Amino acid sequence: MAHPQPRPNVLQIPAYVPGRPPTAREGMTTFKLSSNENPYPPLPGVLEAAVAAVGQVNRYPDMGSTALYAALADRFDVPVERLSVATGSVALIYQLLAAFCDPGDEVVHAWRSFEAYPIAIAAAGAVSVRVPVLADGRHDLDAMAAAVTERTKVVLVCTPNNPTGPAVTQAELDAFLAQVPQRVLVVVDEAYAEFVRTPDPVDGVATQARHDNVVVTRTFSKAYGLAALRVGFAVAPEPVAGALRAVSLPFGVSTVAQAAAIASLAAEAELLERVDALVAERDRVLAGVREAGWRVPDAQGNFVWFELGERTLDFAAAADERGVVVRPFAGEGARVSIGEAEANDRVVALARDFPPPA
Ligand SMILES: *Cc1c(COP(=O)(O)O)cnc(C)c1O
Repeated sequence: MAHPQPRPNVLQIPAYVPGRPPTAREGMTTFKLSSNENPYPPLPGVLEAAVAAVGQVNRYPDMGSTALYAALADRFDVPVERLSVATGSVALIYQLLAAFCDPGDEVVHAWRSFEAYPIAIAAAGAVSVRVPVLADGRHDLDAMAAAVTERTKVVLVCTPNNPTGPAVTQAELDAFLAQVPQRVLVVVDEAYAEFVRTPDPVDGVATQARHDNVVVTRTFSKAYGLAALRVGFAVAPEPVAGALRAVSLPFGVSTVAQAAAIASLAAEAELLERVDALVAERDRVLAGVREAGWRVPDAQGNFVWFELGERTLDFAAAADERGVVVRPFAGEGARVSIGEAEANDRVVALARDFPPPA
């Protein structure tokens, strides 16, 4: 008997494996370091704005997110026509692929990189072209440029790269963009931009202004600590921003998310002090782990990558015994988020006790 059938690509969509919550342990505080979340709860002013907005949930949100667009335009000095807000930057990536890819079109990206990419690409019916990262976890941008074919519609550049950690430099990005044909859309996923402390950091918004084929995606989920509210934004050429808005789900960004995002922009200085504290913790963990004999890649996000091969799941289990949940990628390695100081201490202690690869 014939059954309703989804498009064939839907059956090919890989499952998204979310970071697990910690296993509860008697008499032990447990920590979730598996989803690159911000360990700080919302600032009082942000919480108040969000709570006040809850009082209006009988009404639909402002579909045009007018006040949020105005606040973003002001903060980043770009016209609203070049902005698009959405329910997180993952949604922006889905929307970009839906708007730009026909079935069978190719999307080039680094691998391992953000696990949502192959899922979003498959959902769009496009083909994922994975270019292995270099041994030090950096994007191989020359190989990515060389992987562009007639069928390529989009290239995804993840900087800093989740889960390996290094950031692309501005000089590298400029050289890359000079090699990619104008008809190919280059998405610069800057989910962790606020955590970058390199001498030549990418300025995504300025880069976007110089290129008609570049889109930058940013999120309130990581540095701003609003992961559960689902709000992010893109800075894009006007026609691309328009296409993004055209394919967005109506009323996606909730009233609460809009209010909290606006309040976060107003409190940015205070939020970025927290980011500084997390960066200091990241550097402390990185130093401790390296002192213990690990060769870990540069960490420019709020996480550290341990390359573990076949021992990945053992490492994750050993972390779990210490009340810390990490994000294992079986056979490859484990990504460990920077969290509370006590959680970070446990990670360094684990790195001392768990033998590094020979
Ligand atoms: C966390 C993350 C995002 C942000 O996702 P949201 O949908 O905004 O929560 C985007 N890209 C990468 C690489 C990430 O790690």
